[in-house]
Amino acid sequence: ILLLSIILASWITYVYWRWSLSSVSLHKQILQGVTRNEFIPFYQPIIDSRNQTLVGCEVLMRWSRPDGSLMPPNQFIPYAEDNGLIVAMTECMVEHMVKDIQTYGDAMPALFFSVNIVPDHLKNDDFFQLIKGYIDNQAFGKHRLGIEITERMPIDDLTQARSFLDKFYALGIELKLDDAGTGYGGFSYVQQLGISTLKIDKMFVDTIGHDDNFNAKTIEAIISFSKKSELDIIAEGVETQEQVDYLAQHKVYLIQGYFYSKPLDSRAFFKYKI
Ligand code: C2E
Ligand code: CA
Ligand code: CA
Ligand code: CA
Repeated sequence: ILLLSIILASWITYVYWRWSLSSVSLHKQILQGVTRNEFIPFYQPIIDSRNQTLVGCEVLMRWSRPDGSLMPPNQFIPYAEDNGLIVAMTECMVEHMVKDIQTYGDAMPALFFSVNIVPDHLKNDDFFQLIKGYIDNQAFGKHRLGIEITERMPIDDLTQARSFLDKFYALGIELKLDDAGTGYGGFSYVQQLGISTLKIDKMFVDTIGHDDNFNAKTIEAIISFSKKSELDIIAEGVETQEQVDYLAQHKVYLIQGYFYSKPLDSRAFFKYKI
């Protein structure tokens, strides 16, 4: 028993030590990554299926590590969102995006660029001032900036969030509700935040073609809710022609998903052809 508990205790100490070490160093590496501008944008095309034209994109963060590797968001974004780091990383990514647009953007039709924000962004005046500065200097040229916020995270003070958002709206920036139908906010977010567009989550798109009554009803309910509330709709995670067709039958034409394209680096995106 004694031996066993010594082994157990040292194992627990070891695991704790590893855990604290790894999160401490992740924290430090992210801060370092911000000063070295390592958080870069990938761009996933959003297509109008009626005429097969590119209308915009979602801007998705990647971590370009000093060793040349590219880290996907699921390995660092949840930590960054929980620890107050995401706003600085978004600023870094947007700075890269502005450079990309200024370098390659002229050759493209006018597009919207939709950047992911979280509730922390709506308390951060530095972030707003950065964006305002870009808009004042017409840094996006003919292109438009958009923002999207997930329904999965609670917003504690909707009134405060709305008055902050009004400052973005005054600059002509629209807000999309991401992961619509999966989280907290639902109807109250739409009513109180001034949302222009719902993004239907992949989770619902995945059910298209599987004749499960409940899920088919859910996606139809989301679509008819957007229609009644006069919201635009983007379907996310679209992978098949069958899904594109079903959505078109339901008058959902803005499509984001592997069916058209994965997220692309700047060089590939700015010469993307359908
Ligand atoms: P999200 O905002 O829901 O972004 C859509 C995710 O779905 C992207 O994953 C995209 O690559 C993926 N996706 C799009 N179409 C398809 C498809 O047809 N099939 C499949 N299997 N996947 C598809 P990604 O880039 O790995 O990002 C994952 C999540 O990380 C994002 O989900 C978002 O929650 C977060 N994220 C990414 N960039 C940022 C950012 O700049 N800021 C914040 N706060 N979160 C970000
Ligand atoms: Ca998103
Ligand atoms: Ca989404
Ligand atoms: Ca999603």
